[in-house]
Amino acid sequence: MIVMKFGGSSVESAVAIERVAGIVRRELARKPVVVVSAMGKTTQRLLTMGEKAAAGQRDQAFEMLRSLGEMHEREIARLLPAEKHGDLRRILDCHVREMADLLQEVADLGEFTAKSVDALSSYGERLSARLIAMVFTAFGIEAAHVDARCVVITDSRHKAAAPLYSQTYSRAKEKILPLVSQNKVPVLGGFIGSTEDGVTTTLGRGGSDFTAAIIGAGIAAVEIQIWTDVDGVMTCDPKLVREARRVKTISFAEAAELAYFGAKVLHPSTLLPAIENNIPILVLNSRRPEIGGTRIVSDAVSCSNLIKAISCKRGVSIVNIRSTRMLMAHGFLYRIFEIFSRAETAVDMLATSEVSVSLTIDDPARLAEVCQALREFSEVSVEDNQAIVCIVGDNIRHTPGVAARAFGALQGVNIRMISQGASMLNLGFVVAAGDAEKAVQLLHREFFRSADPEVFDEPAVPAI
Ligand code: ADP
Ligand code: ASP
Ligand code: MG
Repeated sequence: MIVMKFGGSSVESAVAIERVAGIVRRELARKPVVVVSAMGKTTQRLLTMGEKAAAGQRDQAFEMLRSLGEMHEREIARLLPAEKHGDLRRILDCHVREMADLLQEVADLGEFTAKSVDALSSYGERLSARLIAMVFTAFGIEAAHVDARCVVITDSRHKAAAPLYSQTYSRAKEKILPLVSQNKVPVLGGFIGSTEDGVTTTLGRGGSDFTAAIIGAGIAAVEIQIWTDVDGVMTCDPKLVREARRVKTISFAEAAELAYFGAKVLHPSTLLPAIENNIPILVLNSRRPEIGGTRIVSDAVSCSNLIKAISCKRGVSIVNIRSTRMLMAHGFLYRIFEIFSRAETAVDMLATSEVSVSLTIDDPARLAEVCQALREFSEVSVEDNQAIVCIVGDNIRHTPGVAARAFGALQGVNIRMISQGASMLNLGFVVAAGDAEKAVQLLHREFFRSADPEVFDEPAVPAI
């Protein structure tokens, strides 16, 4: 068995879904289980319409819903024989009616609560999974839609729910394995789950990768394929550097650092279930399936380059905490972290001096509450609009002088904080968000002037 996950742009249109059906068909002998994202930008559109409804812009919200329904009908109808169009319309009508009721509730309440965010945004994957299963069947692939909410059981932290693994794994076996043994292709929506009481939850933006890994671990798949819109894990986001190269093989640990520090190609939690069950992950391009993609495996491969890739995470804030009263006092850091922990706000990077601590966070939702508590014993200042640029590679830990080379390359960029993770696989720099793109480009030029052909592909776009 293998898990094949197709992201939003891989299922954005009739043409894209037809391509996906071709890719799945070629793997039928390996017993695929398919996980799909919402079509195109559906999740974002659902979130925007919910916000509009809450802000009193009912008409605009309902207009967006109408056009979303139309998009689904137009694209899917192209792939179904005429006699199935009635079924398609019935499914869409029913789902659109439910979404309209939700929007009405949000509008009446004047608030888009976390619970209703999950309820509404779940419809993207609920629809895509149901409709793509229909399309597969019409294409002669025997498919069966499985509601992922009956499989992925989570806690009740809306918008970022965590799976309850043992229940989820046993549900995955119970709901998916019988279909596979009947030679059916189960099709599930990514991103969505439900609590033990049946309330719909989501795993957070980009969470379909995570669903694929959870399902892969649950059914003991031999491979998890993440099909996306780039050739694999690249030496950096190809949107920032045109001559980014495909990384052919990378270790779980390296990929985990990259994902955690902003490489959007993989949701940061994806690696965990794969690592624990030692299931290789392949990242592939659904528009260019013939390219080999990236293989993520347990051990780092030897490589003559010092680093494997560069990540960039925007939307970061630096929190500076200064307290002369606490100078040298034990328990200072404990007190600080306790406050962040209580507010469920994760800290990414940390730098300390004798009287001050600077740290970064990427979720400012509860920052006001955190600052208020910190101000009881310290002076606090916050700098928004920062970015973490990170170089990642197993060789960093074996090679002296990597930091010096990175600093040399970053001359002219104001570096606000530096940190080397305990894993010694990464070196992170905090820079103003406006400098992030330049920093990534400078580092890319420095570290990928030449590239080990065993590990890296030629750039798709040659440097000018
Ligand atoms: P999907 O919808 O398939 O899940 P995403 O948009 O979530 O796709 O992730 C793919 C995007 O990740 C790419 O289009 C690319 O811009 C971005 N990205 C960021 N860093 C990297 C990287 N190091 N390698 C490849 N893609 C990256
Ligand atoms: N559709 C969800 C999102 O856009 C999940 C995903 O695509 O991975 O965030
Ligand atoms: Mg994604």
